[in-house]
Amino acid sequence: MSVSHYFDTMDYGPALESDLDARAWLARHPDGFGHFIGGAFSPLNDGTLFDTQEPATGKVLARVTQGTSADIDAAVSAARAAQANWFGIGGHARARHLYALARMVQRHARLFAVLEALDNGKPVRETRDIDVPLVARHFYHHAGWAQLQEREFADQVPVGVIGQIVPWNFPLLMLAWKIAPALALGNTVVLKPAEFTPLSALLFAELAAQAGLPAGVLNVVTGDGATGAALVAHPDVNKIAFTGSTDVGRLIRQSTAGSGKSLTLELGGKSPFIVFDDADIDAAIEGVVDAIWFNQGQVCCAGARLLVQEGIAEDFYARLKRRMQQLRAGAPLDKTIDIGSLIDPSQHARVQKLVDIGIREGASCYQPTIDLPAGGSYFAPTLLTQVHPASTVASEEIFGPVLVAMTFRTYDEALTIANNSRYGLAASVWSETIGLALAVAPALKAGVVWINSTNLFDAGVGFGGVRESGYGREGGREGCYEYLKPRAWAQRQPRKAAPVASSGTGTSFLPPVDRTAKLYIGGKQARSDGEQSLGVFGFDGQLAGEVGLGNRKDIRNAVAAAHAASAWSGTTAHRRAQALYYLAENLSARAEEFAKRIAALTGVSNAAATAEVEASISRLFAYGAWADKYEGAVHAPPLRGVALAMVEPLGVVGVVCPDESPLLALVSLVAPLIAMGNRVVVVPNARHPLVATDFYQVLETSDLPGGVINIVTGASSTLLQTLAAHDDVDAVWAFGDAALSADAERLSTGNLKRTLVDYGMATDWHDVMAAEGPMWLRHATQVKNVWIPYGE
Ligand code: NAD
Repeated sequence: MSVSHYFDTMDYGPALESDLDARAWLARHPDGFGHFIGGAFSPLNDGTLFDTQEPATGKVLARVTQGTSADIDAAVSAARAAQANWFGIGGHARARHLYALARMVQRHARLFAVLEALDNGKPVRETRDIDVPLVARHFYHHAGWAQLQEREFADQVPVGVIGQIVPWNFPLLMLAWKIAPALALGNTVVLKPAEFTPLSALLFAELAAQAGLPAGVLNVVTGDGATGAALVAHPDVNKIAFTGSTDVGRLIRQSTAGSGKSLTLELGGKSPFIVFDDADIDAAIEGVVDAIWFNQGQVCCAGARLLVQEGIAEDFYARLKRRMQQLRAGAPLDKTIDIGSLIDPSQHARVQKLVDIGIREGASCYQPTIDLPAGGSYFAPTLLTQVHPASTVASEEIFGPVLVAMTFRTYDEALTIANNSRYGLAASVWSETIGLALAVAPALKAGVVWINSTNLFDAGVGFGGVRESGYGREGGREGCYEYLKPRAWAQRQPRKAAPVASSGTGTSFLPPVDRTAKLYIGGKQARSDGEQSLGVFGFDGQLAGEVGLGNRKDIRNAVAAAHAASAWSGTTAHRRAQALYYLAENLSARAEEFAKRIAALTGVSNAAATAEVEASISRLFAYGAWADKYEGAVHAPPLRGVALAMVEPLGVVGVVCPDESPLLALVSLVAPLIAMGNRVVVVPNARHPLVATDFYQVLETSDLPGGVINIVTGASSTLLQTLAAHDDVDAVWAFGDAALSADAERLSTGNLKRTLVDYGMATDWHDVMAAEGPMWLRHATQVKNVWIPYGE
């Protein structure tokens, strides 16, 4: 080729990164890798070794071990043995270790980048410039949280031994997101990398040990889903943190239900990329490239659904196709390429199948005529247009380099299409009108929103989803809480059967027996659908009254009423605070009557009943106070711009109250939820529901809009089942016996609703540390991070 040819074509040749160091490390383990347990590699057992391939060539890269239950047991024991001391050395000592890990990653940055590109098939340009620097940043950032732990999280303790399971698309980065906060805050870890990409985790564990990380603090067990399932099932694991597909996330929710293990799920997505007609089109085109062709589209938060405003759609598609023609596919170690190999032939087949379905369902398919290397699992960048929002490719996660494009006319239509997904991980909004972009961001159902940008990440900014994209956050302060539990909750004891008062301690204050308290739905008293009622007895065995026996239809009506009250979630914090104070005021006006009623029903002394009413008034005040003070944050990630951490309500929350403290427990559970803008369907204390039905008279005299609090009396466990299985309920809080907790977690699996349960442990509702405050507000909200880069 002549020099003039290159000037004419502007072609450039391959620029291969050296793989000598990575191959040398692999060569030091010629027979394969054992697990990394208790600070060393476990001995090899030939029968359990399997190959891990180089996706770009299909060649075997190394042999690793399929983890058995016995291996998991050994790793969990090592983690357990190390945990007390790891926490005991204190925040500063852990900060030094985390700092050393960050430095270790930087010292070996090239080795990590190359090994990751070989094992995953992604461009080394990405592992070198994005994955590895972010990994180091995660350890630096969390070294800081370790240093500050005693001050910032004084009321929290570590969760204990954490089982962490990660997928193959960002093996090292997902490792960092998982282990950095867990270790920083005093937990120890058993990590299971994905079977396709175990190598960078093994390298990390080995180098971490060399950097002085104590034995047992980080253990890596390799293997496939069966190994993961064994980790999930291990009785001595306190928490599972999982990143992967929604289907496996569901399985894990099912199998851990009722076990007491805490759980975070970072799952799939089908994120919208919304381009308004006033967007900077060239910038948006580059945004699309980063959104869907970064890592071959194998990105949970990939901007996989392109929504373009109708007036600019043709121009946008034409420019996008021109840009696609410029993308370069090639060997992962070639520093000049944009597109590497998919992870495996099976993934290639899956992506192809979905594209074929898209075409069959009417989409028109464009792929540029660029060269794809032979061998490996290369897939051309693909654009599907004329896609119907209801078609398979518009709703299924493809997890490949396939962009699905649709158009919209108006702002409302953009939002409707964008939110028409069972997922809710991320979204990207493009408009030069700041008011428009900032109006769209809060209205999107997503955990992360990027304005005029995409795929921005930072250790200090939380990441995670809503809906079926899972729950929990990684990064920032909110990510730390996933690895902590309130000290006051850690000290809870199993709930004892409610005490039966000795006769004579309560004062009889019984209403006429013929009064049947109704349900309270949509701001109105409502007869139960089954037209059945339930006798309610006082502590002395006398019939105290009757309440409606709610059934599944009543729950459905209440949920519909709660949905109709969605305006509550958009009211100002000041207005919510006022409503809570006013409730307190109205309760206070009837304090004596409530106290007598509680004493008569439960048999506690008048003084205790009065104390319960007073504590309830104080609690309403407390959440009135918090309503406009529990706020988000403005993060300053390393870019020109900000990320707004916005605190958002969960939506509609089902609440099942425990058998004790009929007024105080109800208020303690409901007040934080409504303070944060949720609407609730409450199943009150099953033994003393009359206190709750009295309470709706207080609600009626307050100015809380109808439907914000709905009360359905009846059998707790039956009503909980309907609430937990209801697809329009976003979260369930269930307090009572262990079986109730297990049901709540198991039945929440359908739409992956958030749960807060007590596993039968008693809460002292009078204890302000245990029963009030920010830890409840955290459970009543989820954080949305909105990234706003600045610049002309
Ligand atoms: P996957 O769910 O098949 O596997 C993920 C991990 O779980 C692997 O380590 C696997 O071995 C393990 N696993 C499989 N079955 C298991 C079981 N029954 N019990 C315990 N562990 C089990 O997912 P994948 O195909 O490896 O990864 C792609 C998925 O991950 C996509 O859906 C993607 O969106 C998601 N993802 C999400 C995020 C996020 O932060 N939300 C980040 C990256 C990837």
